[in-house]
Amino acid sequence: MFEGCVEIRNHYSDYLDGSCDPLARKSIRFHLSYCASCRQELEGWETMQADLRGMRRLQVPPELALRLRVEVSREAHRKWLGWLRVWLDNVLQPVLLPASGGVLAAVACFCLIMGSLVVPVSKTPDVPLGSPTPPAVLVLAPIDFNTPDAAVIVVVPVDAVGRPMRYRVLSGATSPELLRQLDRVIYFSNFQPATWYGRPTDGQFVLSLRRITVRG
Ligand SMILES: [Zn+2]
Repeated sequence: MFEGCVEIRNHYSDYLDGSCDPLARKSIRFHLSYCASCRQELEGWETMQADLRGMRRLQVPPELALRLRVEVSREAHRKWLGWLRVWLDNVLQPVLLPASGGVLAAVACFCLIMGSLVVPVSKTPDVPLGSPTPPAVLVLAPIDFNTPDAAVIVVVPVDAVGRPMRYRVLSGATSPELLRQLDRVIYFSNFQPATWYGRPTDGQFVLSLRRITVRG
């Protein structure tokens, strides 16, 4: 079936994985029975495979895993917004005349808002007793906060009485001035503690801050 050594060696990966068809497998075995050079090459492949199998799987630290998840969700959000913009351009441009465009857009927005105000009737309680709820921001401190570029993402642990504890910055700028602003925003805000079986407990949540402007 196979012509020479090079052709045989191109099938080593399938041969070792057991995914070769029976004819190819027979042909390779026959070639190996008389070609010492190809046998030696195959032994090299087998050693490499055994080494790869013996490698220890590295555990990703939880903090890095969380940071990666935040980055992935941020990227997905950006892509989704871009896709929505293109879709709206494609859908709206052919149907809207310049004069009626504003009116139609206003009617569409009104319908969307009215639709979102209708609360579906549900027979189940809002928060089933058995499910845990994460902490949440009740009132964000009215303090000016402004990041120079990307949003600052922090993990904020909140205790059972809603007090924020020592937070960790996951990503974003961390200049001393910004950290001072961040301290004031977090320690002067009001939080709702996490719950477990309806009872307040310790918990933590991820907060993304970009800009808070206080007027008046
Ligand atoms: Zn050979």
